[in-house]
Amino acid sequence: MQNVEKISLVGAGLVGSLMAIYLAKRGYKVDIYERREDMRKGGAEGGRSINLALSNRGLLPLEEVGLGEAAKKMVIPMRGRMMHDNKGYLTFQPYGRLGQAINSISRGGLNELLMNEAEKLGVNIHFNHSCLGINFDKNLLFFDVNGKRIEKNADVIIGSDGAFSVVRRLMQRTDRFNYSQYYIEHGYKELSIPPAANNGFKIEKNALHIWPRGNYMLIALPNLDGSFTCTLFFPFNGQPSFDTLQTRSDVEEFFKKVFPDAYELMPTLTDDFQTNPTSSLVTVKCHPWVKKRTLIIGDASHAIVPFYGQGMNSGFEDCRILNALLDQHHDDWDVVLKKFNDSRKPDADAISDLALQNFIEMRDLVADKEFLLRKKIEAK
Ligand code: FAD
Repeated sequence: MQNVEKISLVGAGLVGSLMAIYLAKRGYKVDIYERREDMRKGGAEGGRSINLALSNRGLLPLEEVGLGEAAKKMVIPMRGRMMHDNKGYLTFQPYGRLGQAINSISRGGLNELLMNEAEKLGVNIHFNHSCLGINFDKNLLFFDVNGKRIEKNADVIIGSDGAFSVVRRLMQRTDRFNYSQYYIEHGYKELSIPPAANNGFKIEKNALHIWPRGNYMLIALPNLDGSFTCTLFFPFNGQPSFDTLQTRSDVEEFFKKVFPDAYELMPTLTDDFQTNPTSSLVTVKCHPWVKKRTLIIGDASHAIVPFYGQGMNSGFEDCRILNALLDQHHDDWDVVLKKFNDSRKPDADAISDLALQNFIEMRDLVADKEFLLRKKIEAK
């Protein structure tokens, strides 16, 4: 491959921003083209506080690029699951014996940290640039910028443009590209529990709260300001489903009956339910991830359901592994792209399958008495 100096990424989300940091640290000239406006200039999350579980898999790459301490200041460790039954009784299931934890972190806060660091290292982030096309042979990218079509070139192109990736869609039109997508029957809606009056936490701070109810569940992760971001994972159709919760009183009646203790903590429940979108959950598998000198990473190459809390974490791991291969092969991109493409796929498939299986454990088995007993015996 010709000398690689200039690398362009499509998408300044979590994974694209981290990858840009790794590459800038190696001395490449890095540009990121991002469809949205700069989230640092005005609430990209629409004023909502959305959080994610950051595990050691994701912390390691942050530590490698020198952002471990900054990230740790932003997290709330969750040491186990706090199960809420339908009478409001609680059971705590620790994640490990040595105080091990996964960490709740603000999605927007983490993305801003990564973008700030990338810019400090000289990365140019071009906002309002929506990728429309790629010429894989000539390494050209085409963007829509406020209605104007512009063209850019790069020595290597990396698509980090998320689950509905345009870069991947363009690869799909090329020969021998395998692709599958699978929507589960459940969608999700984000809701919230506000902080207590003194900015304290209304429920246990250091836990991932779960209200398992068989075919569906509600979860809540803590935020630094004392609030919790809740997510209802719920069927689109059937009884009960998003379809059956149409009016404010449908929602109130349902929550009062099924999630009584959560209902007491959610003063804006019906507003949130009507205002916040109902979103779908998709698994995407595809391969190869490399076409000539264009590569896809993160959700663009392996979007998974969120039940293992590992989508971002495994996207961060993509960045760490790509960087390690560049070390190992002295930045020989021909070798690195091939090795990454061949070696990473089985791991991506494994976490994808585990994530689907864990939905059943979280919504159902965690509340199952025999399952709890088995867990207790395993822990001894
Ligand atoms: P994204 O974060 O989607 O970023 C893609 C970026 O590309 C965006 O900024 C987008 O604007 C931009 N873009 C898109 N198209 C274009 C275009 N044509 N041109 C230019 N730019 C473009 N993961 C965890 O590890 N832990 C969790 O607890 C967790 N919880 C989750 C909960 C829910 C409800 C969901 C849905 C996901 C969760 N995930 C979690 C998964 C996680 O959100 C994703 O894996 C992660 O965001 C992927 O990062 P990414 O950078 O690949 O994609």
